[in-house]
Amino acid sequence: MSTDLKTINRLESEVRGYVRGFPTVFTHAREARLINEEGREYIDFFAGAGVMNYGHNNPELKSALMDYLAEDHIVHSLDMATHAKARFLERFEEVIMKPRGMDYKVQFPGPTGTNAVEAALKLARKVTGRQNVISFTNGFHGMTLGSLAVTGNAMKRAGAGVPLSNATQMPFDGYLEDGSDHSLELLEAILADEGSGVDKPAAVILETVQAEGGVNVARMEWLKKLSEILERHDVLLIADDIQVGCGRTGSFFSFEPAGIKPDIVCLSKSLSGFGLPFAITLFKPELDKWSPGEHNGTFRGHNLAFITATKALDYWTNDELKNEVERKAELVEQRLKAIVEKAPVKASVRGRGLIQGIAFEDAELAGKASAKCFELGLIIETAGMEDQVLKLLPPLIISDQDLGQGLDIIEKAVMAVAGEASPDKKVA
Ligand SMILES: *Cc1c(COP(=O)(O)O)cnc(C)c1O
Repeated sequence: MSTDLKTINRLESEVRGYVRGFPTVFTHAREARLINEEGREYIDFFAGAGVMNYGHNNPELKSALMDYLAEDHIVHSLDMATHAKARFLERFEEVIMKPRGMDYKVQFPGPTGTNAVEAALKLARKVTGRQNVISFTNGFHGMTLGSLAVTGNAMKRAGAGVPLSNATQMPFDGYLEDGSDHSLELLEAILADEGSGVDKPAAVILETVQAEGGVNVARMEWLKKLSEILERHDVLLIADDIQVGCGRTGSFFSFEPAGIKPDIVCLSKSLSGFGLPFAITLFKPELDKWSPGEHNGTFRGHNLAFITATKALDYWTNDELKNEVERKAELVEQRLKAIVEKAPVKASVRGRGLIQGIAFEDAELAGKASAKCFELGLIIETAGMEDQVLKLLPPLIISDQDLGQGLDIIEKAVMAVAGEASPDKKVA
C-alpha cells in the first residue's frame, strides 16, 4: 500500500468515507480527470459530489485566483466590505437574478452547504414564528443538527445522538414506486386539517432531484403544484439547490423549468466553481428580518471563493453551457438505457440533466459496479438508502471523449457484475 494511504489510515478517524471506496492517493486533476501518485488517470464521474461542475483546475478560474493572490488582495475579511464581495454580488444580480426576474437578498452563511440550510431554517422559523418544518422522504440537507432533522437517512440521523425535532417527513414525488402518486393531495389535506396532528410548518424544504437520496426526480407538474399549495397555506418554500443547482440539470437553478420562485434558495457545492468552500442563502427581500450579526460565522463569504465564483458566472452569460448539459444528458440517458437493456439484471435509469443513475433491484450490484469502475479507471459513487443507485455526476464541461470512455467503463463494469449475479434476474 502507498505510504500516504498508510499514514491516512493510521491517523485519520474511522469516520473517513470516500477514501475507502477509492483507495488511492490523488496528486493532480484536470477537467474531468484525476491523476494518482503512480500517474494513473481516472475519469471523474463523481466531481466532488457536484462541486467540480466546471472541471478540475479550470484554467480561467485558476488564473483569476492566481492574479488576485499575486496582487496581495484581501483573503479574509469576515463580513467586512471588499471589492471581491461587491463584484460577486453585482455579477450575480446581473447574470443570474435579473435575467430570471428574481429579486433576492443574499446572505453569506458559513462556507458549507449545511451552513446555508441552517440559515434558511432559522430564518423561516423566525419570520413565521412557527417551529415545524416539512421535509421529504429520502431528502438530504446536511450533517448539522437542524439540517439532519430534515434529512431522511436513518444511519445519518442516528449520528446526532440527541432527538431530532421540529420536523415532519412527507412522501416525495413517486415515493410508492407503483405509479400511484398522492403525495401532494396528502400534503394539502394535512396542511388544511386541524386534526392532522402536524403543526403548521414554517416551511417545506425540497430538493428537486434528490441526489444523495438516490437520484429521485420530482416532476415539473409536481413542483408547480407543491409551490401553489404552499402559497395557498402561507408556508414558505426552501429549495435546497446545493447539489443540483449551478447548472447540474441544465438551467442555473434546477427549479427554473417548473416556473416556480422559491422563497428561500440554498446554494453551495459548485458555487465557487473551483472547489473552494462557499455557500449562499437567498431569500425574498420581505423575509430579511435578521438583526445585524444574529447569524454569523468566521468564514462567511471567503474572498478567494468570491473571485472564482464571479469568474464562473461567465458561463451563464449565454445558453451555451445549458445547451451542452442538455445534449450530453440525452447521450448519457440513451447509453445507460442501452446498458440496462443489455445487462442481465433488473435495473432502471433515472435522472435529469447530468445527474443520472442506474437503480439496481439487487442493491449490492451498485457498490460492486462502482468498485469495478474504479478498477477500470472511473470514479463513480453510489447513492440511496441502500446504496442501490450507481450515480453519475460528471463535470458539466467534460469532453465527449471522456464522457464516452466513462460510459464504456460503466458498461463493462455492469456487464461484469451482472454476469456474476444470477442470470435469471433479467426482466422479461
Ligand atoms: C451536500 C449537500 C448538502 C450539505 O452540504 P455540505 O457542504 O456537505 O454541508 C446539503 N444539501 C444537499 C442537497 C447536498 O447535496
